[in-house]
Amino acid sequence: MLSKFKTSSGTSGGQPKLMPVTAQYNKKGELFDSLKQSPAMRHFGDINQAGKRMELMFARPEIETPSGLKAATVSTSKFTTILPELYTSPIETIFCPDPNQSLYCQLLFGLIQRDEVVTVGSLFASTVLRGIKFLENHWQELCYDIKTGRLSDWITDSGCRNAASLIMKPNPEQADLIENICNCKSWEGIIRKLWPKARYIGCICTGAMGQYTTEIEFYCRGLPLVSDLYACSEAICGINLEPLCKPSDVSYTFLPNMAYFEFLPVKNERHESIEMKCNDEDTELVDLVNVKVGQCYELVVSTCAGLYRYKVGDVLMVSGFYNNTPQFQFVERKNVILNVDHEKTSETDLFKAVTEAKALLDPLGFILTEYTSYVDTSSVPGHYVLFWEIQGKEGKHCKELDPKIMVECCSRMEESLHYTYKIYRKRNIIAALEIRVVKQGSFEALMDYFVSKGTSLSQYKKPNCIKSEEALKILDSRVIGKYFSPKSPL
Ligand code: AMP
Repeated sequence: MLSKFKTSSGTSGGQPKLMPVTAQYNKKGELFDSLKQSPAMRHFGDINQAGKRMELMFARPEIETPSGLKAATVSTSKFTTILPELYTSPIETIFCPDPNQSLYCQLLFGLIQRDEVVTVGSLFASTVLRGIKFLENHWQELCYDIKTGRLSDWITDSGCRNAASLIMKPNPEQADLIENICNCKSWEGIIRKLWPKARYIGCICTGAMGQYTTEIEFYCRGLPLVSDLYACSEAICGINLEPLCKPSDVSYTFLPNMAYFEFLPVKNERHESIEMKCNDEDTELVDLVNVKVGQCYELVVSTCAGLYRYKVGDVLMVSGFYNNTPQFQFVERKNVILNVDHEKTSETDLFKAVTEAKALLDPLGFILTEYTSYVDTSSVPGHYVLFWEIQGKEGKHCKELDPKIMVECCSRMEESLHYTYKIYRKRNIIAALEIRVVKQGSFEALMDYFVSKGTSLSQYKKPNCIKSEEALKILDSRVIGKYFSPKSPL
């Protein structure tokens, strides 16, 4: 019997979807929660006994569907079942409807209890980074609150204020220590300094989250980054049995008792780039026991909650086996592609090109902190537009960036894209690639927009390709510089 619905984030695939939940499904969830802890326990000891988790969590209020059944995000349902004594964030802060008040309080309570914290993290890497950025802007205020034992006036949420009244008391020594740490010129290794007993950072950092790992590694210097699970609103899928493995090498071992998994083979047509070339009529679904190492597949699930042969939209590659159980690396979201004229640029293609281009900024003291893209077809031929948010290291402002470098970044991106793109550029089927540099905080505004539309902050994944007009307007209104590739890459 259906007991409720889960809502997917909808940030990667468009509209949030409702997924059925049954009691049997919930049981599987409980089993999964305990299973996923065991690899970390093997390497880091029993975290639950050692101290607290400083985990940034954001719940969304439940909504009532026309059927009368409630719907909540999968993370929201999970947060209702956590044991509060294991976390630094009181439940009221997790359920606070204002994301900024929630984040401020979660950081505050994480700092107050910093000597007890044994892991730092969030569901996705992007949220960990958002937490650090927020801390960069608010540490003085947080220290003042810790010093005085009083919560800032702008925190008006009664749940947060009640929780604070139970925890806060003036602690000038702790405030001075934190102030000294945050006041230093470079924030390299700041997580380790602020939470000295932390054993690892826990967050998903594969797939679209891969773009955040370099920056998080800078802030956590030396602490392992552990990407422990692969799951979606449709089904729970797998766990990472090697928590110490590099984020780029992480594989997830599928748990065959969580759902019935089938796989649609995906052809690897283009050199170094995976293109979907699946004709459903003549492509057989492959069972979990029959997948082949090195082959890419699109994941298809049938669940005890009622989904039948549901295409999740993720492309995975078989990387090996644990005993007889296949292990998968996350490759890409199927539908995130740029396409002017059937050249079909995938998420992986885009990521590779951005990685090549952003390397030009690094030696000059600038870091690319966020990017996304879209195809601008308002003029003919259409062209790729990249939105870049750039941060200067050690107090530099991105306005100091030499425009020539940005033009070079455009060229470098085009050179790094696949052959079909370059041929199309040469033939003027695609116009010159454009980079629009946006103000600091633009991607936070983008996230706020998605959150205001119903996405849970915990499940938010920045889209690598913008599809909504409103989201586009948010970024376009914050552009501070536009640069174009000067010549065809071939
Ligand atoms: P949602 O539907 O909001 O629950 O989001 C689920 C989606 O998040 C999946 O279909 C994947 O695209 C992505 N995702 C979840 N876990 C991982 C992971 N470990 N690595 C990469 N992407 C992931």
